[in-house]
Amino acid sequence: MERGMRDDHVFHRDLSKKYPLITHGKGSYLYSEEGTRYLDACSGAVAANLGHGIEEIASAMANQAKRAAFVHTLRFETPVLYKLSEKIARFAPDGLNKVYFTSGGSEANESAIKLARQFHRDAGKPEKHVVIGRWQSYHGNTFGSLSAGGDIKRRQVYTPNLLHFTHIHSPNCLRCPFQRDKGDCDSRQDWSCSTSLEQLILEVGPQNVSAFIAEPITGSQLGSVVPPDNYFKEVRRICDQYDVLLIADEVMTGFGRTGKTFAIEYFDVIPDIITFGKGISAGYAPLAGMIVHDRLIKGLIQNSKGKFVHGYTYSGHPVSVAAGLAVLDIYEREKILENVVEKGNYLLQKLIELKREIPLIFDVRGKGLLLGLEFAADAEGTPFKQDLQITERINEKAIELGAVFYPGSGTINGYLGDHLIVSPPLNSKTNEIDELVHILRKSIKLTI
Ligand code: PLP
Repeated sequence: MERGMRDDHVFHRDLSKKYPLITHGKGSYLYSEEGTRYLDACSGAVAANLGHGIEEIASAMANQAKRAAFVHTLRFETPVLYKLSEKIARFAPDGLNKVYFTSGGSEANESAIKLARQFHRDAGKPEKHVVIGRWQSYHGNTFGSLSAGGDIKRRQVYTPNLLHFTHIHSPNCLRCPFQRDKGDCDSRQDWSCSTSLEQLILEVGPQNVSAFIAEPITGSQLGSVVPPDNYFKEVRRICDQYDVLLIADEVMTGFGRTGKTFAIEYFDVIPDIITFGKGISAGYAPLAGMIVHDRLIKGLIQNSKGKFVHGYTYSGHPVSVAAGLAVLDIYEREKILENVVEKGNYLLQKLIELKREIPLIFDVRGKGLLLGLEFAADAEGTPFKQDLQITERINEKAIELGAVFYPGSGTINGYLGDHLIVSPPLNSKTNEIDELVHILRKSIKLTI
């Protein structure tokens, strides 16, 4: 065994690291075996949206496990499945009424990609198979979702055998990949980030393109970047013109994270499929899925006798679904969306103050409680010339000081962009936000 490598039996993502042993969690905090307390300032992986140790959710899961722990959705339905689907459809934008469950977000996107392909094939357009994704976006780690995503570091290892999907740039007005000025785009009412979609569809041939997939607010790759107001309206128009389905990946943003149930609501468009994950079960159980527009369901019924050629053993797992149902009850009862808007604004102001204090914070952005800080080498925003792992190091310092954040780096015009996602639980209290900012300030100052 190489020096520094772990010698236990857990196959961690990074075998060179040792991790604190967490024994339990309560509210916004996790506790280690040694009694160290960690403020979960990123809700794990932007998933533990209600914090830890909620009896009500644990009981709902235990009760369901006692009643019927596993029921195969190929043969049966359960009351919890019926109820959760009904509730999600009620929260979803108009026309999206059928809910398909998976265990994780990658599987959800995989399912959406396959449904789009089957939909076109069964409508007599079998060539429509290419998915257009975006660079600087993430849709998961399975081959289909990885191929649709634009995470260069994750793709590199598996190239050249990824699926032949193709990509445009994600919008990022601060560092426009088309070197355009935001004011210029707005005054010309012409956004290169959306017109590039039309150009690519024409290049690939509209007869070959099945779907366009995008995160409404770009999460892990860019650190919560919000697109220009008109972006998705334009994207919707282009998709309609070329019979390309629009998949909104709300795995990170969905179920209240940004202050709306779904982030796509900010842009006033209706996608054909919304994929979700993380927040639906607030991390209490593996649960994700897709919400599908009536017109696709109609196509499936008309052309495929209602059969979607797909499926997972754990699709609609009753214990996970029971967790989802309990979580949505809490979201509604505790008016979580209102808290996200209020605490999101409060946290945003605090982070803007931090930016004034620390010039290497180049940008503060995001919506609700999905906020991002971007770091740069100087106040002009010059990206760090080499991979200094700045945000990784800030996070390591924060862990020492008792809080955990979500660091990341994406590719910005050929450079690495360093960002940190700040995404505490949606039911965070003001004093927890204050503590978060205090530890963050200290961690940044001790790192750079
Ligand atoms: N899509 C987005 C936008 C995500 O942020 C993630 C995970 O971070 C995924 C998909 C993949 O979800 P999972 O890790 O549950 O497979």
